[in-house]
Amino acid sequence: MNPSGAPELACDQCGCRWFDRTGGNACYECGAEVTAENLAEIEQALTQFAAARQAAKNSGSGFPAPPDHHFHLEPS
Ligand SMILES: [Zn+2]
Repeated sequence: MNPSGAPELACDQCGCRWFDRTGGNACYECGAEVTAENLAEIEQALTQFAAARQAAKNSGSGFPAPPDHHFHLEPS
């Protein structure tokens, strides 16, 4: 997961996310080919992500707020 929360295509072999999308969908790092299964997977993930984002937008609540890490629990 990247910071924006959007799903990314990751390599099955080395786990990297540096696919060369211009060179026939092969992993930039280890050269493993992206399978049709991989592509279907990421496409589905992206579709679900877009739908969830749209739903959140429509409900007006946006994404759930992240935990608040700004409080301090220091001993007094
Ligand atoms: Zn790889």
